[in-house]
Amino acid sequence: MEKLLILTGAGISAESGLGTFRDRDGIWSRYDLNAVATPEGFAHNPLLVHEFYDARRAASRAAQPNAAHHALARLEREFPGEVLIVTQNVDDLHERGGSRRVLHMHGSLEGALCAECGHRWPAPAVMLASVPCPVCSASRIRPDIVWFGEYPYHMEEIWQALRQADVFVAIGTSGTVYPAAAFAQDAARAGAWCLELNAEASATAPDFDALRLGPATRLVPDWVNEVLTHGTAGKQPG
Ligand code: NAD
Repeated sequence: MEKLLILTGAGISAESGLGTFRDRDGIWSRYDLNAVATPEGFAHNPLLVHEFYDARRAASRAAQPNAAHHALARLEREFPGEVLIVTQNVDDLHERGGSRRVLHMHGSLEGALCAECGHRWPAPAVMLASVPCPVCSASRIRPDIVWFGEYPYHMEEIWQALRQADVFVAIGTSGTVYPAAAFAQDAARAGAWCLELNAEASATAPDFDALRLGPATRLVPDWVNEVLTHGTAGKQPG
């Protein structure tokens, strides 16, 4: 049974209206990365960090899954093998598009995490630093997001999937943030055939066997159609 491992990045949600990190006018351009996406930034100014993630959560909730998210959900339903999505995205557009096997390696805007005791619960629309944890009562609520300097989630499961994948596909990711940037190399070393679908070639394009350039809403449905027509995702032309 063929195993497909799909890595997604900000590019797959771009056409849903959620800015990528590299967009010149994207939300990241208005905030200093170190101030809002590091444990040190949170310790220094939790209000600013909550404001930043509240805005991203509101944007994510207002957005709708696009044709690329829907196509991956169709792939999971109809492919006669295994499909696993590993996403660097913190929106929930894969799930709302119908995908069931999704690992959020950088966490989720929809989660709240107690920085004191580690308890997790659904995120409110607005996170106030003063809100007590329902378990330990500490007022150290944070978004359940993996910040720079923190260890990504689900890594054991992801390494295992990389070792077992027959096909690895990266969609809409710039290949600049590790460990995800090394996944194509890891998968290829274990024998997977690797395909990149992206608006522009990533920093890691040489690690892939094939590259297709274009918008995710065209590339992904086209690729899924091919895979479902042939019954295999392996070794298709670039
Ligand atoms: P990214 O913004 O670095 O890259 C987005 C990629 O999507 C680019 O390769 C771009 O060409 C592509 N793209 C844009 N529009 C597209 C479309 N319509 N269709 C297909 N592709 C499209 O985002 P990333 O790779 O997801 O970033 C990885 C991780 O880096 C993030 O999860 C985040 O945690 C972290 N991060 C990165 C930066 C940064 O400056 N790169 C900043 C903060 C956080």
